[in-house]
Amino acid sequence: MRREEAPECLSCGACCFGGIERYVPVSGADHARLGDAAEALTVFIENRCFMRMEDGHCAALQLEPGGRFVCAVYERRPSVCRELARGGPACEAERALKRERARAALLPLLTETPFSDRTSR
Ligand code: SF4
Ligand code: SF4
Repeated sequence: MRREEAPECLSCGACCFGGIERYVPVSGADHARLGDAAEALTVFIENRCFMRMEDGHCAALQLEPGGRFVCAVYERRPSVCRELARGGPACEAERALKRERARAALLPLLTETPFSDRTSR
């Protein structure tokens, strides 16, 4: 798939989902780049560092009620995230495997009734 045919990452989020703790490796340089966000967002397992996983996705991924997947540390994200080219073979494989999982995670936010609609007048 060509890059222009791939969805925008903000509407996809598939590659930020993973079912294992050791999903996103964080190198020493990645850790330094994360700066003050590293303590909250990374975890050491044995002597290796990884992005912390939460609810089946990287803890840096924010699911926005409007239906967007936002990386809270996009400019400082680890190398493995930078290397996954949107529209490339790895992106395609991630989307085939996990796009539905990402969509399902957004569903509760999309169907949530706005507070103003809940109050009867
Ligand atoms: S799987 Fe591809 S399109 Fe989806 S968020 Fe990752 S890089 Fe972007
Ligand atoms: S650091 Fe950002 S781009 Fe990388 S897996 Fe986490 S949320 Fe996704």
